Amino acid sequence: MSSHILEQFLNENLEDLKGKGLYNVIDPLESPNGPIITINGKELINLSSNNYLGLATDDRLKKAAAYAMEQYGVGAGAVRTINGTLKLHVELEEKLAEFKHTEAAIAYQSGFNCNMAAISAVMDKNDAILSDELNHASIIDGCRLSKAKIIRFNHSDMDDLRAKAKEAKESGQYNKIMVITDGVFSMDGDIALLPEIVKIAEEFDLITYVDDAHGSGVLGDGAGTVKHFGLSDKIDFQIGTLSKAIGVVGGYVAGKKNLIDWLKVRSRPFLFSTSLTPADVAASKRAIEILMESTELNQKLWENGNYLKKGLKELGFNIGNSETPITPCIIGEETKAQEFSRRLIEEGVYAKAIVFPTVPKGTGRVRNMPTAAHTNEMLDQAISIYEKVGKEMGII
Ligand code: PMP
Repeated sequence: MSSHILEQFLNENLEDLKGKGLYNVIDPLESPNGPIITINGKELINLSSNNYLGLATDDRLKKAAAYAMEQYGVGAGAVRTINGTLKLHVELEEKLAEFKHTEAAIAYQSGFNCNMAAISAVMDKNDAILSDELNHASIIDGCRLSKAKIIRFNHSDMDDLRAKAKEAKESGQYNKIMVITDGVFSMDGDIALLPEIVKIAEEFDLITYVDDAHGSGVLGDGAGTVKHFGLSDKIDFQIGTLSKAIGVVGGYVAGKKNLIDWLKVRSRPFLFSTSLTPADVAASKRAIEILMESTELNQKLWENGNYLKKGLKELGFNIGNSETPITPCIIGEETKAQEFSRRLIEEGVYAKAIVFPTVPKGTGRVRNMPTAAHTNEMLDQAISIYEKVGKEMGII
């Protein structure tokens, strides 16, 4: 028999979420997560995945994964520090360091647990963290786990960051102060002002931490936001994920050798959770090799991003201030954004609504993620469906 108090809690809260339109409806895919997906037997143009370069379905990665699985099996068998480190894990980390122009790197099982791991391994209750108000949920949770004082600054507002850094430093209350930002903000596609952040960090002796989940594979010819600004030797923590442009699963920190050595002995998911599977590691390593060999996929991603943005903008949609291929279509009212997304899906474009609390109230939107795998025909078709639904709903 289940607990009465739990039943009551779940029923009341689930009803509450459903009433507010905040209950996630999940549509299982019947196809790979490529540029065209199948849901409920229907083919749709996919503008919702983070598979920026199309590598999630790339034959070269599939081959590398299949070979590793044949050689080493399906599971790593232990945590990294017992005997769950294959030579493949070490090779992946060496490749990541090369890719990010750092001395070393450490891989985790996801980008999410990488943030939980890395922040709390270095920061504690005697420290403070300056965190952009739009930082990803995993950064927020990592900060909370560390027990450091969290000081939020207004999104990309350098005056606010500077004032708060100065106040924190001059208070003399904190042993260490860190500044954390996303490299690319995933809801708007804008880029963090890293050169200004680095200047402020130098002035107040801040530790710098950039989560480049959406910048890696996209900016800096693929190497990321830090490389884009030429700041590889100025950022202490470069976080990345293997699940978006890299197309697989996992997360990593790239940085100085002594930082990575510390994370290997002190970050809890590395010590207490089984390591990435051989197939994940081999496929990720292959993806990074591909990115380092050629910028072809990266260039195609930008071409497609610019093409979609131009098409939607010319139709009169508000696509915000994205500086990357991420293309929001800002509608405003939450229910209207949700209805817009529902109609787009009905007409053949899989683009999901993003509403409060993920984005501020009144800025509900449909977010589009064009990838290198889309063709012009697919994008043209998506744009014409946008036109039809946009006109029908009085948005354009
Ligand atoms: N950081 C940022 C900025 C992200 O957008 C995401 C993914 N939504 C993550 C971390 C988590 O990455 P992963 O999906 O690999 O856990």
